[in-house]
Amino acid sequence: MAGILFIISAPSGSGKTTLVERVRSLVDGLDFSISYTTRPPRGSETNGREYHFTERFTFEQMIADGEFLEWAEVFGNYYGTTMAALDHAREAGKDLLLDIDVQGAVQIMKMLPSAVSIFILPPSPEVLEMRLRNRSEAEKMTCEAVIEERLRQARSELEQVQDYKYALVNDVLDQATAEMRAIVLYERGQTNGVEEIAASCLTTAHSPRLDAALESFQVG
Ligand code: ADP
Ligand code: 5GP
Repeated sequence: MAGILFIISAPSGSGKTTLVERVRSLVDGLDFSISYTTRPPRGSETNGREYHFTERFTFEQMIADGEFLEWAEVFGNYYGTTMAALDHAREAGKDLLLDIDVQGAVQIMKMLPSAVSIFILPPSPEVLEMRLRNRSEAEKMTCEAVIEERLRQARSELEQVQDYKYALVNDVLDQATAEMRAIVLYERGQTNGVEEIAASCLTTAHSPRLDAALESFQVG
């Protein structure tokens, strides 16, 4: 394993967590960096599994101590990736997936230009709204203001898609999973049938699916 750093960004509710889990079950040697956050756990989230849930004071102390590779404030809460996560993956000879927002992604792209960036888009605002609602109903945490805020934020995040090397539209889950798997394998240097799929996800390729998703969000 080459110790590749994959930056994954997506508007909340696009299906990033679902996709990352599926790809990790299909591809060996892919570690996931568990971020620190000051937001409270959602639904069945468990400390140390989805996130390290942390008090604001502790997070600010970690910033002061220089423990973060990057951090950002998202929806009023802090989120950050520790240097230690990167070191552990390197020591284990594994590639590392970072699930981070666009602010954190820009920081890493500047610091580590060899990082491979992937943006996941929902196919349309209507589908994104439905996924956000379904998820929050399943977690018994529906809050109109939160859903509206996340939809607004999605549009502004999508403006950054061209800063990423790859973009994939998570419409049909199996197709999006195959695309993300192809990108990981292609970046590792494997070319047995994955290069065509990976190339179709380059943002410079302007695929019809990407253009349609951006148009539906009125991003152009
Ligand atoms: P994120 O991590 O980007 O916030 P999640 O992975 O939690 O998003 O997905 C949000 C919701 O959408 C979840 O209920 C998930 O099961 C559902 N979902 C994800 N991908 C798809 C897909 N391709 N088709 C239908 N539902 C999906
Ligand atoms: P959620 O609260 O829905 O899990 O995540 C909200 C946003 O925070 C998502 O865009 C997610 O990618 C981002 N995020 C999660 N962890 C980190 C992190 O360590 N750093 C940064 N910058 N963003 C993060």
